[in-house]
Amino acid sequence: MPLILVTNDDSIYASGLRALVECLQPLGEVMVVAPAGEHSGCSRAVTLGRPLRVRKQRERDGWYAVEGTPTDCIIFALHWLLKGQPRPDVVVSGINRGANLGDSVTYSGTVAGALEGAVNGIPSLAFSLVSRNNVFDYSHAADFASRLTRKVLRSGLPPKTLLNVNIPPGPIRGYRLTRTGTRLLCTNIEERFDPRGRPYYWIGTEADGRDEAEDVDYAAIADGLVAITPLRNDLTDRHALAQLKHWEIEDL
Ligand SMILES: [Mg+2]
Repeated sequence: MPLILVTNDDSIYASGLRALVECLQPLGEVMVVAPAGEHSGCSRAVTLGRPLRVRKQRERDGWYAVEGTPTDCIIFALHWLLKGQPRPDVVVSGINRGANLGDSVTYSGTVAGALEGAVNGIPSLAFSLVSRNNVFDYSHAADFASRLTRKVLRSGLPPKTLLNVNIPPGPIRGYRLTRTGTRLLCTNIEERFDPRGRPYYWIGTEADGRDEAEDVDYAAIADGLVAITPLRNDLTDRHALAQLKHWEIEDL
């Protein structure tokens, strides 16, 4: 029976995680190691400066809440909970409440959870549900997640690769293999005041146009298709590397 390790960044109490686990259960043994609190936008942060508390969930067998990030969760699962035992056959992260597309992918804690699996040589998937009017119905997304996970369990993935999967709202009409797009983001910083008159700030972004190419993740979502983008942790810009080899830095 395959071992499926699940995490997310919206916390162990998130509806997207529960819907995902329910759909993955028929595929194998599911172990859930997820953050005790929300960590959206935490990227691949790891907790080094304070103790990592872990609570085994009494009401659910094989569920652990970690007071840390998705990366902490996967590290703790692989190097403590499963130490000396067979490694998971797949790592699955999500289902995130909201998209992880284009330039935002490196902000994502959901993607980071899967990245930690991939870096450790385990086929990994990150699932995110794109909302319509801020409504999230995870049922079709969880069904797709289970079908794709089954495929990955059967066929594997290239070494150190994860699949970043974004699912459009509403019924699924199909999928497209994509590359990460570029979004023209408009960043808004809102200033507010607390009851003591001190200012505080909210960082927000709004889409302001998008990459027009057809093969990017945004385009698949706009066409009502699931966007599946293979990612690696190696962010080296090989094109720039070749160009910069011609550089001569003065006085060196
Ligand atoms: Mg999130």
